[in-house]
Amino acid sequence: MTKDNNRLRERALFDSLKDRKSGKVWPHHLLQAIDHAGLEQHDPRLQEVFTRLEALREQSQGVPQELGFEEFRSIISLSVLLLERAFKQELVIPDFQEFKKDVTQIFAQAKHNADGEVANYIPQLGRVNPELFGVAVCTIDGQRFKIGDADTSFCVQSSTKPMKYCLALEEHGEERVHAHIGCEPSGLSFNELTLNDKGLPHNPMINAGAIMSCSLIKSNLTMADRFDYVLDKWQAMMGGVRPGFSNPTYLSERLTADRNFALGYSMRENRAFPENCNLIETLEFYFQCCSLEVTANNMAVLAATLANGGVCPTTGVRVLQAQTVQKCLSFMYSCGMYDFSGEWAFRIGLPAKSGVSGVIMTVIPNVMGIVSWSPKLDKNGNSVRGIEFCRQLVNTFNFHNYDNIVGGLHGKKDPRVDANAVRRNLGVDLCWAASEGDLAGIKRLLISGASLDDADYDGRTALHLAAAEGQLEVVRYFLDHGIKVSPKDRWGNTPFDDAVRAGHKKVANLLQTRLEKQAGREIKQVS
Ligand code: GLU
Repeated sequence: MTKDNNRLRERALFDSLKDRKSGKVWPHHLLQAIDHAGLEQHDPRLQEVFTRLEALREQSQGVPQELGFEEFRSIISLSVLLLERAFKQELVIPDFQEFKKDVTQIFAQAKHNADGEVANYIPQLGRVNPELFGVAVCTIDGQRFKIGDADTSFCVQSSTKPMKYCLALEEHGEERVHAHIGCEPSGLSFNELTLNDKGLPHNPMINAGAIMSCSLIKSNLTMADRFDYVLDKWQAMMGGVRPGFSNPTYLSERLTADRNFALGYSMRENRAFPENCNLIETLEFYFQCCSLEVTANNMAVLAATLANGGVCPTTGVRVLQAQTVQKCLSFMYSCGMYDFSGEWAFRIGLPAKSGVSGVIMTVIPNVMGIVSWSPKLDKNGNSVRGIEFCRQLVNTFNFHNYDNIVGGLHGKKDPRVDANAVRRNLGVDLCWAASEGDLAGIKRLLISGASLDDADYDGRTALHLAAAEGQLEVVRYFLDHGIKVSPKDRWGNTPFDDAVRAGHKKVANLLQTRLEKQAGREIKQVS
């Protein structure tokens, strides 16, 4: 990007925010515009902006001062590209305020559902307030929204399984990892004492598979360094926020882990582990990773990093390879929701992973990550409110993996697109196809929702353009499909005038005949 280009961008941003009278920008208008786009004050990409604004505020002893262009530039210059996209509504959810409203409504509906029981196989989970419910969203452009108890910490439990698998894959690659872990849904409970016919865990999303992933992660390091490594990766995935650790949960998990020990011994008996694996250390490592603590708000960034192919949206750092994420999402899609996985894929159609603490991490690839947390679970061990929230989410938005299949599903919103811009583009495309005589293109555009009577800023309609270019077939098609025969553009010209002016006699005659017919009908109707 050249310096001149940059300056033009800065100028355009300044002009879009400046006060008409003073020709300057109020700092709070800049802040409002940032907030409106869904970007937040802690966003690492905007730190310079906020630091400089704060410095100015201090300088003026808290009295708001308008910003001239040079001052404005100095504040935004490091974030100009992000701000430009945000203010032009070019982030992945262009109308973030509208999206927030919808999510707020869905949250309120899901909150009504008071069914379910809190997991109580360890006292630490049993003691959590069952009424808590939080949801947080982070888009691949780092737009953030949280509601309810999204800042309360909870234990990740099984929602850590995708990360365990990703770390094993990054270190060893697919072939090595899948020499130890299968790729099929087990069709059985997540901690079922069973292995596949090769004596391996069925997949990485159930306990046996996750224990196996743990055995593969940095096995040459000390226990302390292995755990630090996992923390570092979570931190990078969450945009710099380090997860906490619940020692009581870890101790309880270890104490009540007969089934996980049994799984471990069974896998060892089947020689499923990599060579030199220390089983007890592996299990301890597994319990430690289950005992990480996060908030829905922070974990939403991790989910968004998965949605963004492994690049953290708020820092721009690549944490995982895209291929790793692609494989992980595939397992989340088919095996992420315990015994509800098949029905989840059918009804919700998104990769997700849940945990017995009541968390559900859902990934909408290339769009956003969503984390819901509410401790009451259904008989499958999934959060009741979390499931309810996701059901309503995909009823409202076209987020199900197959919603966009040819023919589409009607009645669902697509928050990814700016509805007005789509309509404008369809209108422009229709005029272009009309002037080119592209009848097949016109039919396609009409199916997509283009409207025949839409006019551009100058009042020019598709019929004007077809007439001016002598596109007889197109004009006939339009007239047969109920288009207004005689719309006037801003200079008062009708399509008939355009056809006459350009010497397209056949088109002019056709329009004239239709006009007369219409007038005759009108006269008949009047008389
Ligand atoms: N710590 C639990 C276990 O390994 C994980 C439970 C879960 O969230 O699925 O049994």
